[in-house]
Amino acid sequence: MRLRDKHGRSITDLRISITDHCNYKCVYCRTGREGALYADLPMDDYLRMVRLFVELGIEKVRLTGGEPLLRHGLVEFVRELARLRTLDGRPLEIALTTNGHLLAELAQPLKDAGLSRVTVSMDAVDPEKFARITRVPHGHENCLAGIRAARAAGLDPVKVNCVLLRGFNDDQVVEFAKFSRAEGVIVRFIEFMPLEEDRVWSPEIVVTFQEIVERLESFRPLRELPRALSETARRYTFDDGLGEMGIIAPVSQPFCGHCSRARITSDGKIRTCLFSLFDHDLYGVMRRGAPDDELRAYISGVIMKKEARHHIGEPDFQKPSRSMVHIGG
Ligand code: SAM
Repeated sequence: MRLRDKHGRSITDLRISITDHCNYKCVYCRTGREGALYADLPMDDYLRMVRLFVELGIEKVRLTGGEPLLRHGLVEFVRELARLRTLDGRPLEIALTTNGHLLAELAQPLKDAGLSRVTVSMDAVDPEKFARITRVPHGHENCLAGIRAARAAGLDPVKVNCVLLRGFNDDQVVEFAKFSRAEGVIVRFIEFMPLEEDRVWSPEIVVTFQEIVERLESFRPLRELPRALSETARRYTFDDGLGEMGIIAPVSQPFCGHCSRARITSDGKIRTCLFSLFDHDLYGVMRRGAPDDELRAYISGVIMKKEARHHIGEPDFQKPSRSMVHIGG
């Protein structure tokens, strides 16, 4: 049986946080006072959870956190995931989202273990702005080394995700476009969502899709690239075909109708939407000794309850029960 929700969406994409710890304190994500709030589970338990989801039709798994590169046993975990097969008998697509701080050393071992792709979060090309956002010294040089090592290891295409915040890094749009052209990476701008630990979000701080397009156009004429229906990013290059920039606009142009995602938190809870008001305790059911068929039935039941859409910017918007760093982006 393949996972489907009550709105008719197929769920083929699983994101799993493998640690709640993070070595960055990005201003738009964390307070800077709190550390990890939730438990990390043994890797074998994450592996069982992923296997159960794959048996229900998951084709793509993204490892996230916290910061996934902090997790001991990551390379072996990827090797185990690479042994799994989708319901159609194909290898899983295995992706990773990281801040890149520890990637220079790990890119090649991860590629060799079977990692397909990597997305590096980088919120400024300018090293000082980078430090101001991440609140970690010398992060920029590590992140850059990580991006280059990922490319050298053949983890292609390397995607670089940037969350734009007015007053912090909105002047970096064109710089990132130049970065894409110079480094051969796909840069993706992401609208800031109300998922932070602190109360930072306001509609005014969000740099919207339209504004990003205008800033890019001020550098060179843009050309839109084709995209699949399920793709979250609108993709662009310039008139000369050099560089690729995506814009992911969950706030100003929501794409919930095409959502194919489910998430597992580091402590083994299923989240059916980033903005869910509840978690579903898969690990609790597992710990009670439930066999695989019961767990698969539990997962299918939870997925049926997936929310139709988020309510960002609407009067009835309620802050979700967890912030991004404790879900996994
Ligand atoms: N530590 C890893 C990293 O930095 O990529 C993985 C976890 S991090 C929570 C995943 C992604 O979520 C990052 O790209 C980060 O920029 C993004 N993110 C965090 N808070 C966000 C927010 N409120 N709105 C949009 N993206 C956010």
